[in-house]
Amino acid sequence: MAGGIGGARFLRGLRAALRADEPTASITVIGNTGDDITLFGLRVCPDLDTVMYTLGEGIDEQQGWGRAKESFAVKDELASYGAQPQWFGLGDRDIATHILRTQWLAEGVPLSEVTARLCERWRPGVRLLPMSDDKVETHVVIDDGASGGRRLIHFQEWWVRLHAQAPALEITAVGAATATPAPGVVEAIADADVVLLPPSNPIVSIGTILAVPGIRQALVATSAPVVGVSPIIGGAPVRGMADACLTARGVETSAAAVGALYGPSLIDGWLVDTVDAGAAVDGVEVRSRPLLMTDVEATADIARAALALAAEVRA
Ligand code: GDP
Ligand code: CA
Repeated sequence: MAGGIGGARFLRGLRAALRADEPTASITVIGNTGDDITLFGLRVCPDLDTVMYTLGEGIDEQQGWGRAKESFAVKDELASYGAQPQWFGLGDRDIATHILRTQWLAEGVPLSEVTARLCERWRPGVRLLPMSDDKVETHVVIDDGASGGRRLIHFQEWWVRLHAQAPALEITAVGAATATPAPGVVEAIADADVVLLPPSNPIVSIGTILAVPGIRQALVATSAPVVGVSPIIGGAPVRGMADACLTARGVETSAAAVGALYGPSLIDGWLVDTVDAGAAVDGVEVRSRPLLMTDVEATADIARAALALAAEVRA
């Protein structure tokens, strides 16, 4: 199960580890679509695209999202018309992906099939499934000081435009309650040898995937060991503003608290950073090691440690 940058980078390490150690293994990714947004008529799926571009060698490495060697002529032209919003960085190369996706969706092709078609170009070396073919969008209720009330905005506006600075009163995955898992999602969890939760945002990435009815149940029911890797190191996210999401849900920003949020019904093992070696989670095996995904080799070793913990809790 993967969000954007954290999930994608972990997957690159996992793929490298398996290619070296277990070349017949295959990876199925269940991607978060709660960050999806329609901009200028185009359906944008940031987390699916981050995974696809990262594993397909098309990502902007520095930024961690978007296309390498990107240009922004379309964005500039839109701005010249005064078109809104201007806070979302849609690059020219990236827009080609969104045009095709939107065209296929309009023809009635489900998102899972659209994603498979896009992956024919990128060959990510994994089977990338959206969590659902149904539209789910994370929205955030913020305390709008200016108008003195509560205002509901799209997650992207809160995250990208407001940098999660406006305290979130509520974070909800709109549409999740009536969504169904995409074809193959529940089966992948049921048939897996191991299920891994990468260091993705526990609320708006993993939490949103789990909010699709049937997915959490599949995770609880699977006979496969489930191991998570902490996105929180030393009381802070490594990058991004996951702390603002955790705070909105009343969860402390710590490796132990995120482990407890998943809890023993979901996870069997929890990998934390060395600085969090003291973290304990009731009913969950906790192990510690360095968790900074500095390069592919370091990340492959993190993935190996997660797989080793899975083997340990299975025994
Ligand atoms: P997003 O959709 O782009 O926000 O990406 P994800 O939800 O997949 O992952 C975001 C999380 O990845 C953040 O909470 C970060 O703390 C975490 N993260 C980023 N880099 C690292 C890293 O090197 N190590 C660990 N353990 N977590 C990381
Ligand atoms: Ca995301």
